[in-house]
Amino acid sequence: MKIAVFSTKPYDQEYFENFNDKKDFEFTFFETSLNQVTADLANGFNVVCVFVNDHIDDKTIKILSKIGVGLIALRCAGFNNVDLESARKNDLKVVRVPAYSPEAVAEHAVALILTLNRKTHKAYNRVREANFSLNKLIGFNIYKKTVGVIGTGKIGSAFCRIMKGFGCKIIAYDEYKSEEMEKIGVEYKSQDLVFKESDIISLHCPLTPDTKHMINRDSVEMMSDGIMIINTSRGALIDTADIIDALSQKKVGYLGIDVYEQEENLFFKDLSESIIQDDLILRLISFPNVLITSHQAFFTQEAMEEITNTTLDNIEDFQQGRALKNEVLQ
Ligand code: NAD
Repeated sequence: MKIAVFSTKPYDQEYFENFNDKKDFEFTFFETSLNQVTADLANGFNVVCVFVNDHIDDKTIKILSKIGVGLIALRCAGFNNVDLESARKNDLKVVRVPAYSPEAVAEHAVALILTLNRKTHKAYNRVREANFSLNKLIGFNIYKKTVGVIGTGKIGSAFCRIMKGFGCKIIAYDEYKSEEMEKIGVEYKSQDLVFKESDIISLHCPLTPDTKHMINRDSVEMMSDGIMIINTSRGALIDTADIIDALSQKKVGYLGIDVYEQEENLFFKDLSESIIQDDLILRLISFPNVLITSHQAFFTQEAMEEITNTTLDNIEDFQQGRALKNEVLQ
């Protein structure tokens, strides 16, 4: 089995090479992302292995199909970057890693909340410069605050469990209520009520045409003044221009994001010596109450092991002609 791995970082290569001994697949690692322009690199490979910012649209899929690729193996859970209809029409199978440590992402959402609130990132820098002043470092108790959770699937549920431990009131919106969450005291409400009643809102639903820009001028208007919004899900859940306006008007008090709508040209790259052309991210970075991490919520040892092992198993299922248990169907 010849596998072309796109958007490879040193840690991807390290994990695939370390865990491949059981399968003996032949990997070739490309740093570039997969898209219409780079698709021809997959010539001679059976499988392409891709990540969140690869662009597997109709044109890319047609090229992959023509050059004999049979499987698109996503090494992530989300699949909004794959044209599934085109994959089906062109007879390409798509598999993913449905769950690889939801706790990793949930814990990162909590890290964003605590850092934004207690400003530990600023305190760390201050103390290193012998500035022991507390001015402007004041936070608030998380205890007894109302936390609104949009989407109580695997990650949202893990997040609710942690926030329960902080003594928060948790309200949630999901089309499907989880009995387990109700048992631990999560109260389901309409999306509008969750927006209206929360002190902190954390997004854990997938990106779909329905959820795109769910955080926009109108939804922010419903929220309490000084609301904290956390997004570890997908960037396009938030309308970036609208959130910048809301931050400027001090309607939004804190924004913690691990994902960004235009992240494709920025995240996972060292651009410290480059001129960044994206004015929206530069504006976001300029706010003292905005914390941005570059899609690292999944990035724990446990999650990387799970991603690697599941991806190798998915490819083996395909190789052996077995049912694809992690197939993404349209
Ligand atoms: P999941 O499928 O287990 O849960 C998603 C939940 O969202 C489901 O319960 C679903 O019913 C609900 N949902 C769907 N549409 C909704 C809507 N309009 N409003 C409210 N809820 C809705 O998925 P998961 O494993 O919990 O992952 C959630 C998202 O997290 C993924 O879609 C992915 O985009 C993101 N993610 C991010 C990272 C990261 O590193 N930042 C890593 C993994 C996943």
